[in-house]
Amino acid sequence: MSAAKKTDKPVAADATMPSGTTSGTPQILLAHHLKQLKLPTILREYDKVAREAAREGIDHAAYLLRLVELELIDRERRVVERRIRQARFPAVKSLDTFDFAAIPSLNKMLVLELARCEYILRHDNIIALGNSGTGKTHIGLSLGLAACQKGFSVAFTTAAGLVHQLMEARDERRLLKLQRDLAAVKLLIIDELGYVPLSTTGAELLFEVFSQRYERGSTIVTSNLPFEEWTSVFGAERLTGALLDRLTHHVHILSMNGESYRLAQSARHRKLAATDGNDQSAVEAVDQDTGEITPR
Ligand code: ADP
Ligand code: MG
Repeated sequence: MSAAKKTDKPVAADATMPSGTTSGTPQILLAHHLKQLKLPTILREYDKVAREAAREGIDHAAYLLRLVELELIDRERRVVERRIRQARFPAVKSLDTFDFAAIPSLNKMLVLELARCEYILRHDNIIALGNSGTGKTHIGLSLGLAACQKGFSVAFTTAAGLVHQLMEARDERRLLKLQRDLAAVKLLIIDELGYVPLSTTGAELLFEVFSQRYERGSTIVTSNLPFEEWTSVFGAERLTGALLDRLTHHVHILSMNGESYRLAQSARHRKLAATDGNDQSAVEAVDQDTGEITPR
């Protein structure tokens, strides 16, 4: 009976088998073991690196070191990629593509300092305030990406989306689990606070998120509204006061008021199209300030 059991469990039998004593070439066994140990890079590279090592006269220890290093580099890359996927960014943007000259009100040195992510270790918050199209979401995404690359867990959401998620979780009796997850993430990015006024319940649920993260994790908030107008989003004045109290206790404010980058870009494109020929300049005039096109 025990013999029958054994044949039912080939994996167990395999595991007890001393390696090298089975039929099959060492390569097959090696592939199997490396897969089991989750070392895909070593599996992919060991043969190529062995040939390099032979050519260069490198000894066994150096060969092994080279393989292990490759695995480590690849593993770190895979972990960062996973963190980026888990953050649910609507787009992946970095500071490399951000034109600081386009938004003079923004403190570039502060943004570069924040990209080093030390504020996350201090559980500081960041609030980016400014009118529409000035790059607040872009900055939020960039700081989120930097945090993923530095090894922090990140979650990106809009204020409206987060409230929707919280209400849904409450209705489905899994609010506690969601709240725990939201409290555990190292950096929570809440985009677009202020575009949609919140219901009383929505405001309270959002307040709880801030409350539970207070001095435990960093939160980035972007808003088109100055602080004086936040009451209009949250409804109750006392709740807004208590929320601002927590959020702004350790905070870096990014002031991002200026010309809308979107509008400026489309105006530039239209101007280019107009001057690029097609005799368009003869029939259209582009307003330098608004980008508006008027027939001549
Ligand atoms: P906001 O969130 O403030 O409304 P966004 O971050 O969505 O603005 O910016 C609108 C678009 O313009 C995005 O595609 C963004 O990448 C781009 N953008 C805004 N500001 C800049 C900038 N200074 N440099 C490069 N791209 C920018
Ligand atoms: Mg935005």
